[in-house]
Amino acid sequence: MSDKFDVIVIGAGPGGYVAAIRAAQLGLKTACVEKWVDDKGAPVLGGTCLNVGCIPSKALLESTHQFHKTQHADVHGIQTGDISMDVKQMVARKDKIVSNLTMGVAGLFKANGVTLIQGMGKLLANKQVQVTAADGSATVYAAENVILASGSVPVEIPPAPLTEGLILDNEGALNIDETPKRLGVIGAGVIGLEMGSVWARLGTEVTVLEAMDEFLGVADKDVAKEAAKIFKKQNLDIKLGARCTGTEINGQEVTLKYTDAEGDKELVVDKLIVAVGRRPLTKGLLADDSGVKLDERGFIFVDGQCRTEAPGVYAVGDSVRGPMLAHKASEEGIMVADIIAGHHAQMNYDVIPSIIYTHPELAWVGKTEQELKAAGVAIKVGKFPFAASGRAMAADDTDGFVKMIADEATDRILGVHIVGGMASELIAQAAIALEFGSTAEDLQLTVFAHPTVSEVIHEAALAVDGHAIHMANRKKR
Ligand code: FAD
Ligand code: AMP
Repeated sequence: MSDKFDVIVIGAGPGGYVAAIRAAQLGLKTACVEKWVDDKGAPVLGGTCLNVGCIPSKALLESTHQFHKTQHADVHGIQTGDISMDVKQMVARKDKIVSNLTMGVAGLFKANGVTLIQGMGKLLANKQVQVTAADGSATVYAAENVILASGSVPVEIPPAPLTEGLILDNEGALNIDETPKRLGVIGAGVIGLEMGSVWARLGTEVTVLEAMDEFLGVADKDVAKEAAKIFKKQNLDIKLGARCTGTEINGQEVTLKYTDAEGDKELVVDKLIVAVGRRPLTKGLLADDSGVKLDERGFIFVDGQCRTEAPGVYAVGDSVRGPMLAHKASEEGIMVADIIAGHHAQMNYDVIPSIIYTHPELAWVGKTEQELKAAGVAIKVGKFPFAASGRAMAADDTDGFVKMIADEATDRILGVHIVGGMASELIAQAAIALEFGSTAEDLQLTVFAHPTVSEVIHEAALAVDGHAIHMANRKKR
């Protein structure tokens, strides 16, 4: 038996590393166990998000968005002539951002006094954690509290087994280093749409197969409809009701077989990205007598404050119920560290923003119109288009709208849904409004600076009562 800790965290993704830093800030003796190593055997911190998820995908999306804007800079009178993308440099830039951030986490561990333990962590009985290092040696540590933050891994499907350089998961997709002529994507979810956008902007013919008949079923229907219309214009051929049934590799090409309403079809592509979702990672994490239970879908079973069935053992992030989002993981990590330190802590699961970083971006928080109507809630809806915003016009970024939904009786804002160039930033204003229990009137009475894209939020709030200024209102109150 080695050292005893107040808190041992297993996993250094956004759930685990944030929990570890918060616990250490609160004066708890904290260790974080991480199994991921680079090709030189050095520990890799930051989990999926920093290494193969949120950050690298956004770096590629930003580079290709800049490329697209430069290609269309003539609207501003800027003459660029032919431009080209050095894809290898784009990928190298992405890698540099990732290494800066992951090294940053290591620095934060040091600054806060978090002990990093490299190796595979396994929870034993009585809050003991066994760590198996790369050389196979195992050490057992004891803790007053354990936080499991083991995250998730991509779902693989039998008809499309991963094949080096040709059939890729999200990790492989982030390292494609030359522009493919034809790209297939299986799954029109967040990751599929973001990765499809990256390559469509560079001129790749992108075909996205989606098994469901409905596009973006999780989003408000107005947002999904508007997004489908815009993506169609962007070289993204999204085929709904299309289920992948098999793949065949022929040299450097992949023949993708799928079935849709018309029958069996085939498509030949140069790369295929499988983006059909992620599943919780619990392999090797729990000894038989750890006391922690999984739910029927393989997630670690927790209560509303992330307590597992084993006293003193918590679990956060992608390995537990709820949306698989980095900010959800981090907030759960903070909540658990606070609870362990004896503070009152509660996370508001009703106000977690969702974002898809295509262009325009899609972002929402709170309930959709369809959810509220199904629940029998009487609502009023205000909608305002970016096309009526002077600042959006100046930025040549006028696609989309803000849709605000308020309770008919109390005026309280229940949901905000945005399609628009800056939706990922604007949605924070809506999240603050929902968290503070704001009414549409609160936002109507707030002074928004002019000219800003944020005024679209103000106008949508005014539109809830038929009082938008810069458009003709359909209804008057
Ligand atoms: P992870 O980030 O998966 O971290 C878990 C860590 O635990 C890993 O480092 C793993 O090696 C380690 N680990 C697991 N088991 C053990 C063990 N037994 N012992 C030691 N270590 C272990 N979310 C967003 O909010 N915004 C986005 O824009 C976004 N974009 C994404 C893009 C892509 C391509 C992908 C794949 C995901 C994206 N996500 C995004 C989702 C986001 O990455 C996850 O929700 C987030 O990483 C979950 O954090 P986590 O800490 O629960 O798990
Ligand atoms: P997400 O969970 O947001 O990453 O989305 C994954 C998407 O992949 C979902 O919309 C699924 O319907 C879709 N999907 C899952 N399996 C298949 C399949 N075999 N063929 C096509 N789409 C699929």
